[in-house]
Amino acid sequence: AYNFNAGPAALPLEVLQQAQETFVDYNGIGMSLMEISHRSKEYEALNAETASLLLELLGIQSGYQVLFLGGGASMQFAQIPLNFLKPGTVGSYIITGSFSEKAYQEAQIVGEASIAASNKEGKWRSLPKASEIVIDPKSSYVHMTTNNTIEGSQWSDIPDTGGIPLIGDMTSGILSRPIDASKFGMIYAGAQKNLGPSGVTVAVIRDDLLAEEPKHLPVMLRYTTHAKNQSLYNTPPVHSIYMVNLVLKWVKEQGGVEAMEKRNVEKSKLLYDVIDASGGFYSGNIDADSRSIMNVTFRLPSEELEKQFVKESKDHNFVGLAGHRSVGGIRASAYNAVPHEACQALAEFMKDFQQRNS
Ligand code: PLP
Repeated sequence: AYNFNAGPAALPLEVLQQAQETFVDYNGIGMSLMEISHRSKEYEALNAETASLLLELLGIQSGYQVLFLGGGASMQFAQIPLNFLKPGTVGSYIITGSFSEKAYQEAQIVGEASIAASNKEGKWRSLPKASEIVIDPKSSYVHMTTNNTIEGSQWSDIPDTGGIPLIGDMTSGILSRPIDASKFGMIYAGAQKNLGPSGVTVAVIRDDLLAEEPKHLPVMLRYTTHAKNQSLYNTPPVHSIYMVNLVLKWVKEQGGVEAMEKRNVEKSKLLYDVIDASGGFYSGNIDADSRSIMNVTFRLPSEELEKQFVKESKDHNFVGLAGHRSVGGIRASAYNAVPHEACQALAEFMKDFQQRNS
């Protein structure tokens, strides 16, 4: 199958095979990792190694803590304002798609939230320019989504927040390209696209944001609890974290995020080139300068043709090409683990489909 699912998404075949080998007997201990204590030396070593691999791949040497959390990236939409929104401050949101909008709505439930910029009126086609971003000086943080999974856009220049901590939802873009992590006070990502299976969410938080313990919150909701306990305050999703460990090693072996970016640019270009050369048969949902290298979104001349495209694509072993139910159209999610050949095959299929239907 050519797996273009948006998430949970393709995992590297080598990683799945390796996980299969160790599923029953983890590194010769005679048991599965899932059967042993998360306080065992084997698990503690894995936990520490996974955190340090993630920092290494993000290019972070010091000053940040890695947390493995539950509840998906959606839980972070609530946990961020709960931890960082102090009375008299606001959470500022740059809204560039439905996930950043959800994050903003959650913050409004917790406290005061304001919109620093939004491109909703322009149907998310292009990202706000630096001059369009207005940050309330009372902000305790600014939240952005670096890659918009549903709409298919990605930021190239990270906005300057004038010293206010920037929080990036990188769920669908983490490790797809180099990013200057030092510009962020916090990065978070649900694992199920570029990091592993669902079940764990990673958060990378700068030390100064962990300095104060939010004692008004239940213990499990405080980032400080998980930071102080190396994500072992309660039982972590050990198998998901193990898979993240294998994926991180795979990314490193492939040459790290620079190599990932090179591949992802080439892969997505195969599809964007077909769209741009189609004379309007395929039309991209996003302006060329804001296009994502992870989620390629486009429309066909009619909804009937889109349905037919999805149906025929299934017959050719393409999986997951229907656009998100909220926007329709087509979306090809070509995360790190999607091989070049899959995009090549899809580009050929798109050309052939156009020829037969125009
Ligand atoms: N943020 C972004 C950018 C996403 O793409 C997703 C899921 O696709 C989420 C948040 C929500 O993630 P979860 O399902 O882990 O809560």
